[in-house]
Amino acid sequence: MKNFDSFWMPFTSNRTFRNQPRLLERAEGVYYYKPGGEKVLDLVAGLWCCNAGHGHPKIVEAIQSQAAELDYAPHFNFAHTAAFELAEQLTGVTPAGLDHVFFTNSGSESVDTALKIALAYQRERGKATKTRLIGRERGYHGVGFGGISVGGIPYNRMQFSTALIPGVDHLPHTHLPEKNAFSRGLPAEGAYLADELERLVTLHHADNIAAVIVEPVAGSAGVLVPPVGYLKRLREICDRHDILLIFDEVITGFGRLGAPFAAQEFDVVPDMITTAKALTSGTVPMGAVFVADHIYNAFMERPGSAIELFHGYTYSAHPLAVAACRATQQVYAEDGLFDRARELAPVFEDALHSLADAPGVIDVRNYGLMGAVEMAPDDGAPGARGMRVLQAAFDAGLMIRITGDTIAFSPPLTIEAAQLEGAAEKLGVVLAQV
Ligand code: PMP
Repeated sequence: MKNFDSFWMPFTSNRTFRNQPRLLERAEGVYYYKPGGEKVLDLVAGLWCCNAGHGHPKIVEAIQSQAAELDYAPHFNFAHTAAFELAEQLTGVTPAGLDHVFFTNSGSESVDTALKIALAYQRERGKATKTRLIGRERGYHGVGFGGISVGGIPYNRMQFSTALIPGVDHLPHTHLPEKNAFSRGLPAEGAYLADELERLVTLHHADNIAAVIVEPVAGSAGVLVPPVGYLKRLREICDRHDILLIFDEVITGFGRLGAPFAAQEFDVVPDMITTAKALTSGTVPMGAVFVADHIYNAFMERPGSAIELFHGYTYSAHPLAVAACRATQQVYAEDGLFDRARELAPVFEDALHSLADAPGVIDVRNYGLMGAVEMAPDDGAPGARGMRVLQAAFDAGLMIRITGDTIAFSPPLTIEAAQLEGAAEKLGVVLAQV
């Protein structure tokens, strides 16, 4: 390849990538293959999405035959039957009461859709002053203007700061390394951080607050696991003040934590759940927002036959995505992959914590098949050590994800225990070298 200038790569230092390109050509099962044929163990499920592994024959077949049968169908005023069937199938795995699905094409679109539904819902039931939105520091909710506004990662906002949506506050993040470093599973300290929502209610009054959005386990900021009791406390405060609670489960949805959704795992039911990624095991772009009955019904009770929600995408419920999603959900069920994630979690936990004493490691965190190993940054150069580890791991045949100086892990749910243990050993060598 000669030209690295035409493709402007997302979230990448394009100028350094071209000096040391990490190219992928093919994938099968839990491995990627480099152009020369060398294999790379996928410890991230692509980008937190390929939960069924790569190239599952049933999913491949479903996409191929759908392409031949119906390439595209609009869902404005027309519909493809399979979309209704899929929606019904999906609401069979969502928490009880979240029985309606709005289809999108990505996590960012799911987040913007959920925020718009929240605002429209408040108006629909005569509470038009409830417009403020509350996110959380270090939250990642995609890159739409809604998502970066409620998101709490400074780098994702600072280049665009004049254009953010107004009326947004952020709860404090729940990362308390001085109290919770090297926790296994849910950290013990920090449920009280949810009470900050009470302070925001005092400040703005509940009459002005539409919704709170959080990732049950924050992913992109480096796998921040919620303290014991934190999410329940958030739900209670939202209930007390008639504020909607949105869980962004773009990463945690579809088995990553052992249950279909974090909502079930932590026994806290939000009013909406945003998803994407593992919805189709990453094979075809698709997102979905799961909506509680009370929200959906508020729109359906509108008098007359006007359109209930002025929102949607050309590719909402695209036939290829629907086919991929149906096959993916079937694979998850038939292969028992969510249970498998739960069974593998202790092996994964031990493998990650075996790196606790590796040079430079300052924290290890995990829940289900989601985890992180955090390293101390180089003096004056945050992220530099992370990039060196990313490259060295890739050279050693491992694909990891780096956020700053934190290594994040979210392997396909199909990975074997021995592969996790072998990867931790290899990574120990990499950390010692770097
Ligand atoms: N929300 C969360 C929690 C995510 O992790 C992501 C993607 N990492 C998004 C939203 C955005 O998804 P997408 O990149 O598909 O727009």
